Amino acid sequence: NQRFIWPMAQFGQIINMYQRARASAERIFGLMDTPARIAEEPDADELVLDDGRVEYEDVTFAYSNDDEPVVEDVSFTVEGGETFALVGPTGAGKSTVLKLLMRMYDVDEGTIRVDGQDVRDVTIPSLRETIGYVSQETFLFYGTVAENIRYGTFEASREDVIEAAKRAEAHEFITNLPDGYDTEVGERGVKLSGGQRQRIAIARAILKDPEILVLDEATSDVDTETEMLIQRSLDRLAEDRTTFAIAHRLSTIKDADQIVVLEDGRIVERGAHGELLAENGLYANLWAVQAGEIEELPEEFVQRATER
Ligand code: ADP
Repeated sequence: NQRFIWPMAQFGQIINMYQRARASAERIFGLMDTPARIAEEPDADELVLDDGRVEYEDVTFAYSNDDEPVVEDVSFTVEGGETFALVGPTGAGKSTVLKLLMRMYDVDEGTIRVDGQDVRDVTIPSLRETIGYVSQETFLFYGTVAENIRYGTFEASREDVIEAAKRAEAHEFITNLPDGYDTEVGERGVKLSGGQRQRIAIARAILKDPEILVLDEATSDVDTETEMLIQRSLDRLAEDRTTFAIAHRLSTIKDADQIVVLEDGRIVERGAHGELLAENGLYANLWAVQAGEIEELPEEFVQRATER
């Protein structure tokens, strides 16, 4: 049941680790000719942010040359500050679509632009500093809670850390830990639950205050009250910034400015919640399936979901 969150702050490190692992694999297996998949243009400029508008134009991507594309001919535009939700069955390509934005992989065809700049033409650090990534993979390193929250925003003060934790609904459980913010967590430290890790990752993202937020299936299997707390902090985090969301529970993305339904890597439906229900297609059916789940939740949550 343990889920993990791996915010964008870590991302450069992952790539580094990947590159190092790759380098040793190359040494071991003699794959020296294999080009690195993600490379920065020698004349790449810093990303110049305006309002965080993101455009996908005819994007196609396959994990390997021999495979069928996992993302096919995907086009959409997200205006600065909008919330954009991706919905669809497991394996439809939702995570992959968002990984392309962060250049965890590069598109095979088409273009992704942030404020008019092709993501392949800007420096990778300037792109990644712009994006906060909260996924189901929480990464906590061995260190204190405060250090884990501060990760990626090292100039943040103690007060900033506590403020971020409060906004992430994490302050209360943190103060109940043996040494509060100085409690050692991670592999050798105090074990935190999935929901607690997730809130630490959200606090990290709050501290980072990115222009663009990517939430990949951010609601994990925690108890309902915790889930409501997490959802509330995520809603706050999404306010006034371009937000991409993948959610298991459609109720959490019901209010998105745009909902795109992916099936087998292709966009099959798009619109706002009401429009998609009226279409009575995949979305409406997914919604109907989930209606059963929603009924099991406490009254307040149901009310909250309907209010949105
Ligand atoms: P979703 O987020 O909608 O569940 P994903 O984007 O995770 O879908 O996956 C889309 C497809 O790509 C799936 O068939 C999945 O198995 C495949 N896939 C995902 N990640 C990789 C990878 N690193 N290498 C190869 N195939 C992958």
